[in-house]
Amino acid sequence: MNASIQRVNLQRLILALAALSALVMLGNAVWASYQVQRQQLLEKSLEANRVYAHSLAQSTQHFVLNAQQQLAVGAERLSRNAAQPAAHDDEVERVKLQTDAFNSVISVNAQGVVVGTSPALPELQGKVLSSAANRQALQQRVPMVSDPFVAHTGNLVVTLSHPVFNADGDYAGYITASIHLRDPNVLHSLLGTHPYDDGSYLYVVSRDGTVLYHPDPDRVGQAATRNAAVDALGQGRAGALHSRNRHGVQMLAGFAPVPAAGWGIVAQRPTDAAVAPMGSLTATVLRNAAPLGLLTLLLIWLCSRRIASPLQELARHAQDQDVGAAITQVKAVNSWYHEAAQLKQAVLVSFRNLNERIGLLDKAALTDPLTQLLNRRGLERALSALNASGVPFGVITLDVDHFKDVNDQHGHDTGDQVLAGIAQCMRANARPQDVLCRLGGEEFLALLPEVSADAALQVAERLRSVIQAHAFPTVGHVTISAGVSHYPETQADADLVIRQADKALYRAKHGGRNRTVLYQRRSQRRENPS
Ligand code: GH3
Ligand code: MG
Ligand code: MG
Repeated sequence: MNASIQRVNLQRLILALAALSALVMLGNAVWASYQVQRQQLLEKSLEANRVYAHSLAQSTQHFVLNAQQQLAVGAERLSRNAAQPAAHDDEVERVKLQTDAFNSVISVNAQGVVVGTSPALPELQGKVLSSAANRQALQQRVPMVSDPFVAHTGNLVVTLSHPVFNADGDYAGYITASIHLRDPNVLHSLLGTHPYDDGSYLYVVSRDGTVLYHPDPDRVGQAATRNAAVDALGQGRAGALHSRNRHGVQMLAGFAPVPAAGWGIVAQRPTDAAVAPMGSLTATVLRNAAPLGLLTLLLIWLCSRRIASPLQELARHAQDQDVGAAITQVKAVNSWYHEAAQLKQAVLVSFRNLNERIGLLDKAALTDPLTQLLNRRGLERALSALNASGVPFGVITLDVDHFKDVNDQHGHDTGDQVLAGIAQCMRANARPQDVLCRLGGEEFLALLPEVSADAALQVAERLRSVIQAHAFPTVGHVTISAGVSHYPETQADADLVIRQADKALYRAKHGGRNRTVLYQRRSQRRENPS
């Protein structure tokens, strides 16, 4: 494993992926709800403006019809005494006072000459009115509402007029009432209060597209900005739509015509003002979504831990130096889902194979290949285990007598067969717990745990006679010499006990070979010749 490469771990990956998808879904839900709510707010605002424009248009229509009715009554009364100039002043005065909706009321005779005015306007008396509205009234002789124009008095006005016919049915002029658009007038009292204070406003346009009423006094008398609402009004339609004012501000406009006057009313509200509540609505959505969202994240975190845990444990134990311990730990991993279980199985199989191979290597390193007895390293290991356990043990070292001659006479390979045969004899005469090894050449050693020195000497003697009796192929009979020592009977230091056996063997050789010798101090030597 290359520990220097830092990679993100599985749990973090799962967590990041799940958290990302949760965030995307939350964002998506908030966005969708934002869109729906915004659409609803826009539609509600459009509808409110449509209804508002419609109701104002109805009031205005009602006013215009009423005013025309008043003028009709005035015309009717004038028709009876149109010839008397004083009657004109009286009648226009009466009409003005009665309706209280007009800035001035004037009666004009069939020649277009002003006959009566209210309030008193001496400068107009006897004058011929030159406005287009005047000409139209004289020519058409029908009730009408004029386009805006600048009157004699210098005021920007619209007029309502009604023809006067005398008792014989002859045309006798008309009575006309004016609304001064730039002065406080009836439109202000009809339309002046708008319930919102957020940039919403309404305005009135005449048939010819002039602004009759606007919260900005400078706009009155100007041509209305052409937009979708004004265009629709020009076609006599009512409704609501998205538009822009002349400053480019997006507006939600409701509009309705006033058919009696040819006017149109537009009530509009800035789109931004209509969707202003979206901020707090979205915050509410987020606040409501937060607890479940956090709970979901917590669950995701717990699940990611559960999912990643077996793999993390397997990965950690796979790096363990001690294969035996690693196998135990891997076995304990809770591989609760299919892939983890498969991985665990695969790790265990490969660990077991590894363990087996290590075992084989170990054995090969400790075994003598010719005789399959332990080699010197194997002996050292067995001896340190014996030392650690502290049990008494006997030691036999043995050496083939005149083995050089065997080699010389029969060849090295035959010599090897003899060595293997001797090992076989040793095995046949040993207990399972005895440790047998070949020290090298034709020298062997046996450790006999839990036996006395005498017993070890007997075993050595028995082995010697077995080998002597054994007929080796080609070679026939060979003999051995053996030295015996014992821990702790002949040597209290376990590390020195083998050296004692060597010394006893040396004595056996010098004593004439084919014999066993138990180590004894010089004073108590006892030899056991064959
Ligand atoms: P003695 O022990 O009785 O004094 O005589 P010896 O001839 O056995 O003594 P020595 O130790 O001088 O000779 C040992 C011989 O063993 C020398 C060598 O040719 C032979 N030898 C050593 N290792 C092996 C082996 O692995 N295979 C064979 N075939 N011969 C070996
Ligand atoms: Mg030797
Ligand atoms: Mg020898």
